[in-house]
Amino acid sequence: MMLQIEDLCCGYRQKRVLDGVRLEIPSGCFCALMGANGAGKTTLLKSINGILRPQSGRILADGCDVLAMPPRQRARLIGYVPQNAQAGDSGLSVMETVLSGRVPHMRGRLRNEDREIAARVLEEMALEPLAMRTLRQLSGGERQRVFIARAMAQQPRILLLDEPTNNLDMHFRQDVMERMRRMSARQGLTVVTILHDLNLAIAYADQTVLLRDGGVYASGRPEALLNEESTREIFHVRMDFAPHNGVRYAVPHRREEGEV
Ligand code: ATP
Repeated sequence: MMLQIEDLCCGYRQKRVLDGVRLEIPSGCFCALMGANGAGKTTLLKSINGILRPQSGRILADGCDVLAMPPRQRARLIGYVPQNAQAGDSGLSVMETVLSGRVPHMRGRLRNEDREIAARVLEEMALEPLAMRTLRQLSGGERQRVFIARAMAQQPRILLLDEPTNNLDMHFRQDVMERMRRMSARQGLTVVTILHDLNLAIAYADQTVLLRDGGVYASGRPEALLNEESTREIFHVRMDFAPHNGVRYAVPHRREEGEV
């Protein structure tokens, strides 16, 4: 599903965070949203999802105004995994949490199809052994995988992920990136994910959007966009870029004493 953001302005009370953001993310695109701390990445995801009401602008999914949709319809189209999703006090089990992803599709009660989808996702995300544990009994990384699994069970057409790899070890970091990439390529799922790791963006994303000063600094293919100059401009950091299999990856530039 194609996602268009038109002249989006939003923020909190008096504070304007995003000022006239225009962006187009094609159907089935795996898009990495990047920028310094406080640049407005989470604010942008929350406004796409309708959690935060924009001051002005429009969000269109295949041409339909997302913010004008009833919440249930929006929840069938858009999945959202927040940053460091917490267990809360609900005492829900892993299975119940993943099943709750089916709520936007249910009419009153669970169908066998809903249970089958949840069971399949639990298996895919290697969560079966944890299915009966409550969220409070999980590690941070395990909990993160549960929330990603819930969003997968929701079967949205657009998936918004806020730093999904944060608490994950190397195996699951790669696993989640590959899974999301496959889902976007095969099922046309449009993925917008906040990432802080330049190399994950270079390795997996089709498109990178760099946010700065309340707007889009640049948008395009990560290998074209991410280089010494843009990382200095955006992140105020010096990185070297070295080729591997024909693609240039980022390596931190270790400064020698006295080097500026
Ligand atoms: P990070 O990389 O640190 O997660 P981000 O790019 O996702 O940052 P946002 O969380 O979107 O940044 O925050 C953008 C700006 O809005 C920041 O200056 C932040 O302090 C401010 N902000 C975020 N949430 C609120 C809030 N609830 N009330 C007031 N200001 C907020």
